[in-house]
Amino acid sequence: MKRRNFIRTTLLGVAAIQMGFRGKEKLKTIQIDDSFFGKRDDTIFTWLGMAGALINCRGTIILIDPLISYGANSNTCETGDRLLVPLPVTADKLPKADIICYTHADGDHYAEKTAGILNKRFNPVFICPSVIADKLKKLGVEEQRLVRIKDFATYPAGNAKIYITPALHDWQKVDPWKREDCCGYLVKTPDGTIWHPGDSRLIPELKEIKNVDVLFFDVAAVDSHLGPEGSAIIAKTSGAKIMVAYHYGTFDLPPGTYGGCDPDDALPFIKDLKSEFLKPDPGEVLKLPLKYESE
Ligand SMILES: [Zn+2]
Repeated sequence: MKRRNFIRTTLLGVAAIQMGFRGKEKLKTIQIDDSFFGKRDDTIFTWLGMAGALINCRGTIILIDPLISYGANSNTCETGDRLLVPLPVTADKLPKADIICYTHADGDHYAEKTAGILNKRFNPVFICPSVIADKLKKLGVEEQRLVRIKDFATYPAGNAKIYITPALHDWQKVDPWKREDCCGYLVKTPDGTIWHPGDSRLIPELKEIKNVDVLFFDVAAVDSHLGPEGSAIIAKTSGAKIMVAYHYGTFDLPPGTYGGCDPDDALPFIKDLKSEFLKPDPGEVLKLPLKYESE
């Protein structure tokens, strides 16, 4: 509750609040209802758990890396991982989806069940690396709804524009991912920008990305991830005003692994930054523009 008040107060600009660091808290999923998806005159967004993000930019619904289907039961994700928290929405109940973006083909970012359901229900445009486009084609997605990413390209996305940021996530011992096998997304809305960098090492180009309002902050302190140290660096260089912790707290994985790191391990790296570090619950709605900027 305390944490929720902090977020709301910060985003509404009611008062300047010192960054309050709290101990480890369990995430508590907030169900996303249909009102999230309506036409509006601003932009709202939420973390879907793991690496997923959902954005409503003035009525355009954009998803990034959604894993929003259950597997064998309601405690299991479609990936087979045991869930620590329920999903905030599921692909079969989602009321709208216009654009689906995937950063790369690892199982904690892309899964066929969600992709297939969203494809059948909404005929969305998919923006993704070629590796995933090939998989989507096999699922029945027509070529004209597939956008194969190029680094630094910009693609129209309804009321937003999507700019591709490069990523290098070369974790495999044999035949590692190369450039453009993975990517990040800078979603430029009329109300501000949201940067989901995907999984990546800290490559020099990432420090050139500017004018970011919201940075999805990868807390996974493991090889070929930004981790808290790299994420803090790009938070600073990009000018991010809000950092949203992600890539944790969703799957039941051992501590210290790709999905099992503690977001508070980031605190030493961000202590001198002006941007706010948020640990929203899955499904908790955040808003752009960040009103306190102009007040
Ligand atoms: Zn990942």
